[in-house]
Amino acid sequence: MNTTRKGLATRLIHTAEGHQPGAVPLTTPIYETTTFVFDSTAQLQAYIEGGSDSYFYSRYDNPSLHALEAKLAEAEDAEAAMVFASGMGAIASTMLSLLSAGDEVVCSAAIYGGTLHLLQSFLARFGVTTRFVELDQLRDPTFVIGPATKVVWFESPINPTLRCLDIARVAGACRTAGVLSVMDNTFATPFNQRPLPLGVDLVMHSVTKYLNGHSDVTAGAIMGSRELVERLIPARKLIGALLDPAAAGLVARGLKTLEVRMERHNANALGLARAFEGDRRMSAVLYPGLASHPDHAIAAAQMRGFGGMVTLDLPGGFDAAARFFDRIAVFKRATSLGGVESLCSLPVLTSQYGWTDDQLASAQVTRGMVRLSVGIESLEDLIADVDQALG
Ligand SMILES: *Cc1c(COP(=O)(O)O)cnc(C)c1O
Repeated sequence: MNTTRKGLATRLIHTAEGHQPGAVPLTTPIYETTTFVFDSTAQLQAYIEGGSDSYFYSRYDNPSLHALEAKLAEAEDAEAAMVFASGMGAIASTMLSLLSAGDEVVCSAAIYGGTLHLLQSFLARFGVTTRFVELDQLRDPTFVIGPATKVVWFESPINPTLRCLDIARVAGACRTAGVLSVMDNTFATPFNQRPLPLGVDLVMHSVTKYLNGHSDVTAGAIMGSRELVERLIPARKLIGALLDPAAAGLVARGLKTLEVRMERHNANALGLARAFEGDRRMSAVLYPGLASHPDHAIAAAQMRGFGGMVTLDLPGGFDAAARFFDRIAVFKRATSLGGVESLCSLPVLTSQYGWTDDQLASAQVTRGMVRLSVGIESLEDLIADVDQALG
C-alpha cells in the first residue's frame, strides 16, 4: 500500500484547503465552511472550556459573520452586533432571549407586520403577553409600563405614516422603570439616526433594507452593549437563523457605500417630497423632512437626514392609489425598501392588509396611501414618474 500518496479522492478534497501563505487579501475572505479544524485535543479542549477564541462550527459563529458584525457595531456606535439570516430572525431570537412566560411586551400596533404577528400569534402561545398602546401613549411610556413589562419595542419613523417618537424620551422612561427598550431602526438607518447614544438598550435592523442596500440579500442584526448582545448567543446557536457567509460578504460590501447611498436617498426623497408638497392632486405628502409633517420638530432634532421613504395620501381612496400604482413606471411595483432601486407599494395590500377601518384609523393609515421607497436614480426621472402617475 502506498502510504505517502493519498487516493485521488482524498487529494482532490484536501489539497490547497485552508489558509494560503503569502496571500494576504485586502477584503475579508468568505469563509464558506460549515466547520473548523482543530490541531489537537488540547486546542479543542481549550475552546470547549471557553479559554480560546477559535471557531468551532458555522451555526455557532463564522469569521465572515464576525467581520460583518464588527462593521455593523461600528455603524451604530455599539459595543457589539450580531447578524441573523433575516430581520425576523433577529427579532425572534431577541424576543426569545429576553422574554419568559409571564412577561409583557409594550408596543404600538403601528409596527412592522412580522413583529406584530410574532407577538400576537406566536409568543402569546408561550405565555408572553403584548399590550398594544396608542402611538401617543408611547411618547412617554412611563404611564403604560406595568409590573410585568420587560420590553418596550418601538420604531421611528413608523411605516407608512413616518410618524416619529422622541427616542431619548422613550429610552429614558424605560431606563427609569427598569425595562429594556428595543428599537427597530430599519427605516432611518444609522447614517440618519443612532438610538444607542440616545439611551436605547438594543437596536434592531432588517439588514435586507438600507444596510445591504442592493435588494439581493435577506439579513438582520441586533446591536447594543456586549452584555446584552451576548445574551442572544444561545438563541442564535439553537434557533439557527444564521446568515450564510457569502451573503455576509455581500452585506459587508454594501455597507462600504452606506454613507454615499444614504446621502442620495435623503436628497432624492426630500426633493421628491418638496416637489409635490401642496400639490392639489394629493391630500398629503408625508415625509419627516417637510415642515408640514406632524413630527418634523422631533425628527429634525434627532435625525441627520430624513431617510428615503415618502408616503403619498391620495384623495380618491383605494381606487386612486391603485390607479397610481398601475401607472408608475420608474418606481417598481414591489414590497420591501431601502435598495438603490425605487419601489412603490400599497400599504392596505401589504403591511395593513385585512385591517378594519377602525384599525386603519388608529394607525393613521388610509386606503389612498401609496408608499414610495425612493432610490438613488436621477431625481428628475423620479419626479416626472410620480407626476405622470398622478395623471
Ligand atoms: C423588512 C422589515 C423587517 C423584517 O425584516 P426581514 O429582513 O424582512 O426579515 C422588520 N422591521 C422593519 C421596519 C422592516 O422594514
